[in-house]
Order: sequence, then C-alpha cells, then structure tokens
Amino acid sequence: MKIIDVKAVYPNHYHATNSWRTHFWQIVVRIETDCGIVGWGYGGGGVAAVEIVNRHFREIALGKRVDSVQDISALWDFLYQASTPYGRGGVAIMALSGLDLALWDMFAKAESMSVCELLGGIARDRVRGYATSQDPLLCRDDGFTAFKSTHLIREKDDANLAQLIANVRFARDVFGDNALLMVDAYMSWHMQYALDAAKELLDFSIYWFEDVLLPDDLRGLARLKPQLFPVKLVGGEHDFTRHAYGHIARADSLDIWQPDITWCGGLTELLRISELADKYEIPICPHRGGEVWALHFLSAGYGMDLAECHMGYFKEETPCLWQHQPKPEGGYLQIEDVLGFGVSPNEALL
Ligand SMILES: [Mg+2]
Repeated sequence: MKIIDVKAVYPNHYHATNSWRTHFWQIVVRIETDCGIVGWGYGGGGVAAVEIVNRHFREIALGKRVDSVQDISALWDFLYQASTPYGRGGVAIMALSGLDLALWDMFAKAESMSVCELLGGIARDRVRGYATSQDPLLCRDDGFTAFKSTHLIREKDDANLAQLIANVRFARDVFGDNALLMVDAYMSWHMQYALDAAKELLDFSIYWFEDVLLPDDLRGLARLKPQLFPVKLVGGEHDFTRHAYGHIARADSLDIWQPDITWCGGLTELLRISELADKYEIPICPHRGGEVWALHFLSAGYGMDLAECHMGYFKEETPCLWQHQPKPEGGYLQIEDVLGFGVSPNEALL
C-alpha cells in the first residue's frame, strides 16, 4: 500500500501542567494509505515535532510503499538520515517516533493483526504494572504491588533526606515487605546525595534509583552504579535511538534501560535498542510502558514484566485522548484482541 497523507496534530492536553509540557508534550500522527487504511501514532516534541512531521517528514513519506516491516525500517532510516542536520535526538526523534508508531499501526491493520501479533504474538497474558505516584495508599488499594515516587532536590540538605526516608518508610509500611519500591530523582540529585540516600534506605530494600544524574554524565553514572549496589541505577527516558544506548552500553552506566517508545524512535528503534540490550544482557523497562504503545512490545515478551503506569495519566486525564486504551486492573495490564494498537484518538481533542 502507498502512503497518501501524513498529518501531525498537537492535541488539547488538559492535564499538561508544568512548563515544557505546555507546548512540547505528546503529538498525534495520522497516516492514510491508498487502500483506505489509517494508522495512528503517538510521538513527543509538541509543536516543534508537529512542524517536523508536517513539513519535512510528510514530503519524504508521501508516495512511499509500505508492504512489510522491512519497508517501515527502511523509511525510518531514510527519515533519520534526512533529519540528521537538525536531529539525531530530541524533538526530531520524538517526531519520528510518532510517525513510526503510525506506520506499525497501519501495517498491522493491513495484515489484520495486532502489533503484538506482528511481534510474534502474546507471550505474556498480562503485564505487571508499577504505579508512579506520590500516593502509596491509593495505589495499594488499586492492587499495585510495585510503586515509584519522585523525590526532587535542589541542593543537598539533611531535612530533604529525612523527608525521603519518611516517604519511603511510609510506602514500605503501606505495601508490605514483598512490594517493589523505586525512587525517581528526575535528574536532580548529585552523586553524594545518591550514596547517602542508598545508605540511609538500606533497610527498606529499594529496587532502583531512576534518572539520578544528567543523562549526559555517563562517566558519573558508571562510577555511581557499583557503589549503589544493591540498589539498581536506571534511566534512559531522555535518551534517543540505539546510538545513544550504544554509548550507555559501552560506558556500563545503567543497570536497567528505560527507553520511551514515543520518544526514542518508535517501535522500530525500540526493537533495535532491545537487540543491543540483549547483547549486553541489560533488562529493558520502557518509560510509560503501561500505555498502549509499549504494552504491545511487553505483551509480546520483550523487556521486563513491569510496566510503568503514571497514575495521573490513568486517573486524571479526562476526557481521555486515546479511546479503548487498556487500563491497569488489580495492578496488571492486558491488551485485547485488536487491530494495530487498537486505539483511536478522541477527535474532539485534535
Ligand atoms: Mg522517570
């Protein structure tokens, strides 16, 4: 089939609150083919990515044939190379991610399959969710057995560490001994704070610290990683393509990789990152893995059996942008027997 239209839209995000998300949050990409099939994708990069898709990528993609997964990869490579002067990461790859996911959605529909089936079919009937939230009680009551909270610092101070310890102690009390507890630093910590936190939290068996330093500081992360043991050092939501992950792999800077399928280059590139991860024996736990786009990848048996559920996304996003999206139930997620990714956008928000 031939691509006859490509269009990106910045939807109305009712709950995009803080600064960068106001204008640079998720985009919707629609691809139409000459056989009437429409593919939907979800990318990042906001208003800038919309321009990249509608002006540059559209020009290249129009008229291209997509009759196999190899055709999707070939088009990806072409778009990557064409956008190299201003791309290779950031909003250009976030834009490419949205277009790539729309191509997979479209091709799976043409084959009368789900994306998961295209990847070999269901290998996990259900995927264990982990809740990202600041409210352990609510998440436990929803059935989750894995919980992550965010703890930001500006400068090292003891009161802040005391607050972290109090929060973790409370979460451990709420969830009991067997739950996984994680802490996300959102790039705000420094090495000494991470070491102090690991030491002070030893009794609470923290599974991982996430996004501890700036993602550029591969050497710092590589030095920190063995010192945090048994806490794992994880990250990667701000890294793009297998090229960036190649640097991470060679620096041995992270215990678990967290690419975001809607940012890192789409499913095409996530599969390549996954291949690299297998080579280095690094587990993958996609950022926002509980959203439908990565859920097909996880359901097909790729990555860890652990999908991130931003509780703000699942609880507060009304009206919901993606219709028929699976929601966590009893702390687990499950995809239905669908065509493509099985979702379509709420047109009123486009
Ligand atoms: Mg994070």
